[in-house]
Amino acid sequence: MENDKIKDYLLVFSGKGGVGKSTVAANLAWALADKGLNIGLLDVDIHGPNLAMMLGAQDNEVISYGEDKIMPVEIRKNLFLVSMAYFIQRTDSPIIWRGPAKMKVIEKFVKDVIWGNLDWLIIDAPPGTGDEPLSIAQLLPDAGAVIVTTPQDVCLLDSTKAINFAKELKLKIHGLIENMSGFNCPHCGKEINLFKKGGGKKIAKEYEIPFLGSIPIDQKIVLSSDNGEPLVSAGDSPAKKAFLSIADKIAAGKRV
Ligand code: ADP
Repeated sequence: MENDKIKDYLLVFSGKGGVGKSTVAANLAWALADKGLNIGLLDVDIHGPNLAMMLGAQDNEVISYGEDKIMPVEIRKNLFLVSMAYFIQRTDSPIIWRGPAKMKVIEKFVKDVIWGNLDWLIIDAPPGTGDEPLSIAQLLPDAGAVIVTTPQDVCLLDSTKAINFAKELKLKIHGLIENMSGFNCPHCGKEINLFKKGGGKKIAKEYEIPFLGSIPIDQKIVLSSDNGEPLVSAGDSPAKKAFLSIADKIAAGKRV
């Protein structure tokens, strides 16, 4: 099995932390795997690798293969994961690494994991436009990018930096996702725009990149992530519909 059978790379990133980037990566990976595509998921959010927990695989282990190769964890038949979480001894200890060490480990994950045949390798990058997204973009110049934002101005400002970063590095920008976009009150049924609404669509237009869709705030997302079962894996809800519609657009390969 060689890594040259990875057909496409998708970098999920954000200008800011806590906007739901890992949640989006997990749900998109699951939804794309549901379409019968072979999906690899690489969690290089070195300082907060949450994907293993979000996919119920925190107790799994990657297996070494030969001298220096790694087998990913099989989440389901066509969904594989490698996470920094598997290389940290205690999940509550922070990692303090300098830039070059981080880049080395990212390079190893990209090159030395036996992913097999993949339609997509989805990469959950740490937030911001620092060393890690930069090294991934340099390692994989053909990577596509999805940018996750929330609608409030303090986040949008950082998201515009992320858009410019993707443009400068000439990544194929699939588009922008507005997460935490409105909340339907379960008591009165009215929509409350906790973090405002529509700002993501506005900056996507302004920066001339596709707008992929809005995902509402939904407590089911929190519970499903904490239970290791991505929201799209069961049930029905407006948030699930939003994830599936975004996955359709990405699968269709709409690019700038
Ligand atoms: P990031 O990767 O950007 O740091 P996470 O994906 O870890 O963000 O999400 C941060 C927290 O917000 C998690 O607890 C997650 O379950 C929650 N969350 C993400 N998106 C939503 C949403 N649309 N509605 C409710 N909670 C969400």
